[in-house]
Amino acid sequence: MIPGAFAYHRPKSVNEAVAMLADLGEDARALAGGHSLIPLMKLRLAAPEHLVDLAGIADLKGIREEGGDIVIGAMTTQNELIASELLAAKVPLIRETSRLIADPQVRYAGTIGGNVANGDPGNDLPAVMMCLNAVYQAAGKGGAKRFAARDFYRSAYVTALAPGDIVTAVRIPAPPAGHGAAYEKLKRKIGDYATAAAAVVLTLNGDRIGSCSIGLTNVADTPLWAEEAAKILVGSTLDAATVKKAVAAAEAITSPAADNRGPAAYRTKMAGVMLTRALARARASAK
Ligand SMILES: Cc1cc2nc3c(=O)[nH]c(=O)nc-3n(C[C@H](O)[C@H](O)[C@H](O)COP(=O)(O)OP(=O)(O)OC[C@H]3O[C@@H](n4cnc5c(N)ncnc54)[C@H](O)[C@@H]3O)c2cc1C
Repeated sequence: MIPGAFAYHRPKSVNEAVAMLADLGEDARALAGGHSLIPLMKLRLAAPEHLVDLAGIADLKGIREEGGDIVIGAMTTQNELIASELLAAKVPLIRETSRLIADPQVRYAGTIGGNVANGDPGNDLPAVMMCLNAVYQAAGKGGAKRFAARDFYRSAYVTALAPGDIVTAVRIPAPPAGHGAAYEKLKRKIGDYATAAAAVVLTLNGDRIGSCSIGLTNVADTPLWAEEAAKILVGSTLDAATVKKAVAAAEAITSPAADNRGPAAYRTKMAGVMLTRALARARASAK
């Protein structure tokens, strides 16, 4: 339960952090809230020789509106996401999801940047970011970069970031006023990662679905964007037969591991149940 020895660095700017990570090379890791990295280090599943703590970089904090986008600094904590009135008004899905991450103790330290950059399929915010079509802004040796959340996740703990890149902000196109959204998460107890979870954002066109986007958590080795399932629903009234077809399409792209949360077939079915519930709640919250 005691991590290996490491040197601690605390840069004051993004440029300084990027330069440090480039100089220190493969033996260095960025440190954000530490609530994924430190447990791995304590178990000796990670043993970086250098930690580059991003906590002293003021530019990585804060939530602001820029044009039609909401921009969230990478070091914004999950608790700050919950507390933000701007997010509650413009993208309530983020508050709803953040309240389902772990427990308050974790959320006071854990950051949005760490949650989306970590690459753990059990993290809740990545599928939500795919659902919202977010873009991750990053900085690295080659300068500023941008990655669509939908193209970012390659396999468990492998993302599009190059070694030494840091995510600086998450940029979310604000969904239209009147949109409906929901995140449904099945977990064994408070503070647990999802057995399966589903995020839905939709708009209405009269009593029909005008647009729909679906993300799934912890039912494959990456978060999933269920594009085909969402397409099936557009133009429908969310009648039972169409929902059943869409749920089958979403279940078809899952490939969960069997673990102590249940066998693979159970977790796939639970993804379908979570999606059915999320669709109904998102529909009810749309205007
Ligand atoms: C008991 C417990 C329960 C939890 N339950 C959940 C849960 O239900 N749902 C959930 O989503 N999460 C859960 N978590 C994880 C938690 O949300 C973490 O805070 C989050 O996964 C990582 O964020 P962090 O800021 O703590 O990052 P850290 O742990 O500091 O870093 C995680 C990884 O991301 C990298 N990293 C961090 N920031 C950046 C950046 N800006 N750019 C590039 N790389 C970066 C680090 O190098 C490291 O590899 C739980 C954690 C614990 C301890």
